[in-house]
Amino acid sequence: MYRSKHAGRNIVTVFEETLQDEQSLTLEHELREGLSNGEITVYYQPQIHLSAGTITGVEALVRWQHPTRGLLSPGEFIQLAEECGLIVELGVIVLRMACQEMKLWERQGISYETVWVNLSPRQFQSPDLITSIQDVLRETGLSPTSLGLEITESLAMKNTDLIMNKLRQLRDLGVRIAIDDFGTGYSSLSYLQQFPINVIKVDKSFTRISSDDQNPRFIVTAILALARELNLRVIAEGMEHIEQIHWMRQEGCDYAQGYVVARPMTPEMLTKMHRELCDRARELIH
Ligand code: C2E
Ligand code: MG
Ligand code: MG
Ligand code: MG
Repeated sequence: MYRSKHAGRNIVTVFEETLQDEQSLTLEHELREGLSNGEITVYYQPQIHLSAGTITGVEALVRWQHPTRGLLSPGEFIQLAEECGLIVELGVIVLRMACQEMKLWERQGISYETVWVNLSPRQFQSPDLITSIQDVLRETGLSPTSLGLEITESLAMKNTDLIMNKLRQLRDLGVRIAIDDFGTGYSSLSYLQQFPINVIKVDKSFTRISSDDQNPRFIVTAILALARELNLRVIAEGMEHIEQIHWMRQEGCDYAQGYVVARPMTPEMLTKMHRELCDRARELIH
C-alpha cells in the first residue's frame, strides 16, 4: 500500500507526506486521549443587540488545552477531528459544557437568550444527533429554546430530505438554527426559504469596511434586505471597529459579534466581566 500510494513520486515529497501522515496520526491519538482526559474547554464570545445595547447571546468556541503545545484553536484540530470521526464525541462534550454553563449563568442571574454551538457537517449527519441533543438538554435542564446550533452554508446547500428532516425535528424541539459564515458558500439561496432556520451570520469577509473596495457594502445591504423579506435575524460577525458597528446598525442589522465587543473568553472571565460587558454594549451603540 505504501509503495502504490507513493509510486513514481519524488523522494522528498514522499518523505514530507509520510511525515505529515505521522504527525496527524500522533495528533489524532493525542486528541483521543485529550477527550477522555478533560483537555477540551470552551470559550464564549458575547453577541450584542444593536438597538437595545444589550448582550443577547454567546457563541461557544472550542479550545484544546494540549499537554505540551498549549491552548489550541479549532483551526488546529477541528478538521482532523472531522476526518477521523472524533468530532462526534468532541461535539457532544462541547454541547454539554455549553448547556451546563448556560444553566450556571441562569442561576447566577445572568440571562442570555441563547447559547450558540457550532456543528460541523459530520456531526450534523451523525444518526445520533437528535437523541444526543435531547439527552444533553434533559441532563442539564436547559430549555431547548435557549440553545442555538450553527451549521454551515455548504451543509444547508445539500438540501436533502435527511437534512431537512433533522432541521424540522430540531425546530419542533424548539432549538434555533443559524447559518454560519453566510455568503462564503455557493450562491443558491433557495434553501433559505425552504429550511426552518432563524438566523444568518454574515461572514466577516463581508463586514469589513475598506475605502478601496466598495463591493462588500452592497453585499451586506443585499443580505439584510433578503433576511428582512424572509423574516430571519442577522448577526454581523467579525466586528473589529466601532465604525463597523455604527454602519451595520445604520443598515438595519440587529445583532453583532466581534473583537470590538469582546474576544472569546473563559466562562469564569465572562461571568466576572458581565457588568463591564453590559456597559460596553450600551456604549457601543451611542
Ligand atoms: P465561526 O463559528 O465562524 O466562529 C467565529 C470565529 O471568528 C472564531 O474563531 C472567533 O474567535 C473569531 N472571531 C470573533 N470575532 C472576531 C473578530 O472581530 N475578528 C476576527 N478576525 N475573528 C473573530 P475560532 O474560535 O478560532 O473558531 C474558528 C472556527 O472553528 C469557527 O468559526 C467554527 O467554524 C469552528 N469551531 C469553533 N468551535 C467549534 C466547535 O465546538 N465545533 C465545531 N464543529 N466547530 C467549531
Ligand atoms: Mg460559528
Ligand atoms: Mg462564522
Ligand atoms: Mg467559520
